[in-house]
Amino acid sequence: MVTFIGTQEMQNHLKKTRLEDAITRLAGMIKEDYLRWQAFDKSARVANHSDVGVIELMPISDGTQYSFKYVNGHPKNTQSGLLTVTAFGVLADVSTGYPHLLSELTLTTAIRTAATSALAATYMARPDSRSMALIGNGAQSEFQAIAFHAMLGITELRVYDIDPAATDKLIHNLRMYPALRVVRASSTAEAVKGADIVTTVTADKTNAIILTPDMIEPGMHINGVGGDCPGKTELHADILHQAHVVVEYEPQSRIEGELQQMPADFQVTELWTILAGKASGRTYAEQVTVFDSVGFALEDFSAMRYLEKYVMHANSPVLDLIPEMMNPKDLFGMGMAGNTMTNPARSTTANAVPINA
Ligand code: NAD
Repeated sequence: MVTFIGTQEMQNHLKKTRLEDAITRLAGMIKEDYLRWQAFDKSARVANHSDVGVIELMPISDGTQYSFKYVNGHPKNTQSGLLTVTAFGVLADVSTGYPHLLSELTLTTAIRTAATSALAATYMARPDSRSMALIGNGAQSEFQAIAFHAMLGITELRVYDIDPAATDKLIHNLRMYPALRVVRASSTAEAVKGADIVTTVTADKTNAIILTPDMIEPGMHINGVGGDCPGKTELHADILHQAHVVVEYEPQSRIEGELQQMPADFQVTELWTILAGKASGRTYAEQVTVFDSVGFALEDFSAMRYLEKYVMHANSPVLDLIPEMMNPKDLFGMGMAGNTMTNPARSTTANAVPINA
């Protein structure tokens, strides 16, 4: 049986666990995995593009466990009442190839992206950073705000979105964080002016220029989240020319990140080297730093480890996804004669409740 963690399981988890604790804990697990960089079999994700979006598969393995995430990015979806980004994933044993967890990853992706952004910023932003501009106030935005509040000590948020209703929603949702002062701006330039950190998390399948060089002030840290597939960027290339640019996995970021605008020999630093103390996230206070985030499979691997450790429980629902058989060579007998028999040696979820019970 394969354990299933659905949206409802995640909602229940988030009722019992403060979001800032979930983000902080997951950031710790992401760091642990980045520090095991050499142990992972890594590849750039596989993407299928259309005029309106992208569907991607993100596989990775550490030799013991294997995971993949299915994720889409369709910026126009919200116009028809659908999410821009949805995801689910699988965690499997490398030794047998058997999957043991099938999980929702839509909510989880928002948490893991915010955790990764804040983790990177811990090493890249000025330690005295207290204000953040948040451009793009859609599905990911509150998670980013809360991650930077909890992990970086951000107390002032300057928010802007071309859709005023998205900003209304963000302000309404963040009312339960009174220590986070939210200031509404009337433009990106107004939001960015004087901010210590700038997070761009917009969605548009185009080479948008959300930030221009004239908006950038010495010492700013830019957390670029929305430019994450070919032909979809947020920053003017001259910002990158002036900055210390950090990426997750260089081969993937060259195709998908802000980096796609830059020459092949443009120097970047991989996040794991900073976390491991082999490179610095920031070398002087006035330096402009850019975390060119696209989302890497390792972060989803960590997220599924988090789900297994903190969300899965003895009574988690299970799915009849893989046959459990006394005679594994008799697939025909199982399929045609219906003589499925549970193999007690493999039944690891004896107390679990089948999803359709
Ligand atoms: P969303 O559609 O819910 O929200 C995007 C918001 O951006 C919308 O409210 C839209 O009005 C706003 N926007 C678009 N153009 C803008 C502009 N020029 N100025 C200001 N606001 C603008 O999408 P979401 O789920 O919040 O995702 C946001 C982006 O983050 C997407 O591009 C998505 O692909 C990306 N993403 C990246 C990662 C990662 O790991 N790097 C993970 C998840 C999502």
